[in-house]
Amino acid sequence: MALEEYKRKRRFEETPEPPPKVAAKAGNRFVVQKHDATRLHYDFRLEMEGVLKSWAVPKGPSLDPADKRLAMQVEDHPVSYFDFEGTIPENNYGAGTVIVWDVGTWQPLSPVPVNGKYVPGTEAAAMLAKGDLKFRLNGKRLKGDFALIKMKGRRPGSKGNEWLLIKKHDDYAEEGYNIEAIDDSVLSGRNLEQVASDAGAREWKSSRPATGRGKLKAAWLADAVAKLDQKKAAASGQKKKPQRQPPETPKTKTPRTRRKIKGKT
Ligand code: MN
Repeated sequence: MALEEYKRKRRFEETPEPPPKVAAKAGNRFVVQKHDATRLHYDFRLEMEGVLKSWAVPKGPSLDPADKRLAMQVEDHPVSYFDFEGTIPENNYGAGTVIVWDVGTWQPLSPVPVNGKYVPGTEAAAMLAKGDLKFRLNGKRLKGDFALIKMKGRRPGSKGNEWLLIKKHDDYAEEGYNIEAIDDSVLSGRNLEQVASDAGAREWKSSRPATGRGKLKAAWLADAVAKLDQKKAAASGQKKKPQRQPPETPKTKTPRTRRKIKGKT
């Protein structure tokens, strides 16, 4: 896939970001970048077909399977973005400081379990197109099996780019995982503030929290998560304990939302 959107959004004479070049060689790296843009978020990128497939994850990835993290798919990025760390100047797309929070390799897993286990597979592009990508990470900080599941655009005005990033239960799962406890670059050891001051940023807005954003506490997200859980329970054919609500979802849903779900079922 080309990098037209990546190119269209940027002025390369101003931003230090890499040019829009599709890589000739296949690779299987992944990167998580912490990006102090208008809203602090984490960019999760998987190398695939010569580009980095990219999602902006407001709360960042989690090793806790109970966390279902909203991940907004964004434009493909060039593979050379893999080690980009620096400050995108004001008035440019994505203005703000970026650090590399994790790097490593990934591999797609089989779309369905084989003898009860997900095993390495080859259908990454097909799974991505279907909106249900299972994969294994071998990073410095993120390890183990994950799923990226595309949501069916239930949010009013949805762009249809909402996915959920979910850790699967395995030896690397960690209850109560707190991504904010680790704030430095896995490449340089510097945190956002240090990289920002290196770039001579005039004003540093002291660490804004990644959590507690009102806009994300939306019923549509809670609904999508609940539906996903139902589907999962039905697929496994087992009765499962109700999972605790992810922190970004409200405890109560409005009756209006419930009706909407029933209508769609
Ligand atoms: Mn970003």
